[in-house]
Amino acid sequence: MTAAPSVVALRLLETSDLHMFVYGYDYYQGRQDDTVGLARVATLIAQARAEAANTLLFDNGDIIQGNPLGDYMALSGKLTDRDGHPMVRAMNLLGYDAATVGNHEFNYGLDFLHRALRGARFPFVCANIETADGGSLMPPTVVLERTVTDQAGAFHALRVGVIGLVTPQITVWDKARLDGQVDTIDIVDAARRHVPSLRARCDLVVALCHSGISAQPRGGGEENASLHLAAVPGIDVILCGHAHRVFPGPDYEGLAGVDAVRGTLGGVPAVMPGYWGSHLGLVDLLLRRDHDGSWQVASFQVEVRPIFRRDGRDAVPLVAADASVLAAAAPEHQATLRWMEQPVGSTAVPINTYFSLLGNDAALTLVNDAQLWYARPLLTATSHAHLPLLSAASPFKAGGAGPDSFVDIPAGPLDMKAVANLYMFANTVCVVKVDGDELREWLERSCAIFNRIEPMPGIAQPLVAPRAASYLFDTIAGLSYEIDLSQPRRYDSKGRLVRPDARRIVSLFHEGRAVTPADSFLVVTNNYRADGGGGFPGTGAGHLVLQAPDLNRDVIVRYVLQHRQVAPVAAPVWRFRPFATPVLLGFDGNAETARHLAAHPAVSRLGEGSGGFVRYGLTLA
Ligand code: MN
Ligand code: MG
Repeated sequence: MTAAPSVVALRLLETSDLHMFVYGYDYYQGRQDDTVGLARVATLIAQARAEAANTLLFDNGDIIQGNPLGDYMALSGKLTDRDGHPMVRAMNLLGYDAATVGNHEFNYGLDFLHRALRGARFPFVCANIETADGGSLMPPTVVLERTVTDQAGAFHALRVGVIGLVTPQITVWDKARLDGQVDTIDIVDAARRHVPSLRARCDLVVALCHSGISAQPRGGGEENASLHLAAVPGIDVILCGHAHRVFPGPDYEGLAGVDAVRGTLGGVPAVMPGYWGSHLGLVDLLLRRDHDGSWQVASFQVEVRPIFRRDGRDAVPLVAADASVLAAAAPEHQATLRWMEQPVGSTAVPINTYFSLLGNDAALTLVNDAQLWYARPLLTATSHAHLPLLSAASPFKAGGAGPDSFVDIPAGPLDMKAVANLYMFANTVCVVKVDGDELREWLERSCAIFNRIEPMPGIAQPLVAPRAASYLFDTIAGLSYEIDLSQPRRYDSKGRLVRPDARRIVSLFHEGRAVTPADSFLVVTNNYRADGGGGFPGTGAGHLVLQAPDLNRDVIVRYVLQHRQVAPVAAPVWRFRPFATPVLLGFDGNAETARHLAAHPAVSRLGEGSGGFVRYGLTLA
């Protein structure tokens, strides 16, 4: 009679893309956010550990950047060797077994990164970053020697090999901070280099892959390489991240080689736990010992557990926050709240969105100035560097959500909350390439927000529909153009071409020269627009030239920090084409709008509007 083979149940736990969210707190809105935070994940971790005899906990990177707490810690003098970094202290408390770095770990430079991670009581590994002298920035792999309990209660020594991998694009995205200091290797190439020897020394190999999932054919150097990584022999489990999505689940349904229900990439168990601490990833392995003493993965189960559930628009927490984790980061969290009340710089002019639909204004000028400032250096080393660079921005808060939903920042100090109010969406910077025709159509589609105006003097005609979606009205800086409101809409509010004969964009110039169909331009925008949000001509996958890792909002903060004082004076981008006889364009504002009429002599107060709005009129002559 032979003894039954030993069977060990081993549970791997993953966090990823925590981005400094220890607290479930929205620093920009200044309120509790129950959809995020390591403190709640910590409770899921405790539950998952209580259910299993053997567990290992990993983090997959993007730890030290992503919210104002991260920016605060990167200020000079805040990170000390004595106290260490609050994120690392919180992670130490949870007893991580190993971690890798994400692309955002490099946002504050290498020196800061090394100092931030110094206090970690767990190893960081990354196999695809080399230093200038040809060495490895950090250990490529680590072998965790753990004692595990099998299902009969017997102990076994288990060797778990861990390899870390990160998006090789860090040298592009953080070129200014990394140039000449480090170089990156393709994720799959690095794995092929290191996995065979790791495999030979270990019972199990886990890849911490700070990279998303894409079924695009392999070309080398992929940003989202997890599926290609699965083809490297010797990897038992892939922990994914970077894309801020959930896997298994509908986010990745229908991709060849991906089982989005079972949670496999090319047959290899894989998991991705959302972002900002929204989920905990779990991979349950059953390991069976063969006659030769080697361990085989006999079966597996992949799961993601959220910290909240949706109830309509509400987020209902599923677990309580761990008080000890909150306490670990409390001093710096509180200091960040105080810091956010401090100015990041100042503005020499008032910034508001009361008049954003009447002509370009300071609010959109600041957004576009910052986007151009950020994107230009990123494009210099690319094949598109010679093309003219434009920037598109729309007013997010221009009354669409009610009479309080305007930006109104007086001249003077500019704090982080003001910037967040100006750019309320957590979009990231993207650049698209368009030709002259697409550019013109982009502007035509933007103009769908405006009603057609009849040449009737005296009567106030509404400029836009009540609560119009102003985030679908782009101003493109770097051009000059007129909008002819006497013409019907060429596109409808859904972006459908409805009147191919109609044109509202007239006198479209770039640097004094009429734009022609043969021209090419680059347009800086956000990921929402670039990915096709609003169905704008010139956007979508075929047009993408750059997908930057930074939030448009953070770019504005950095721009203000760098320039100390900004003066986003409205450059002459566009105006309404004058009518032969003056017309009166009615639009909604609030009581505060009246304080700015001195700067807008053609605007007058018409009277009370509905729903708390105040009606104003622009006389267009
Ligand atoms: Mn991330
Ligand atoms: Mg990332």
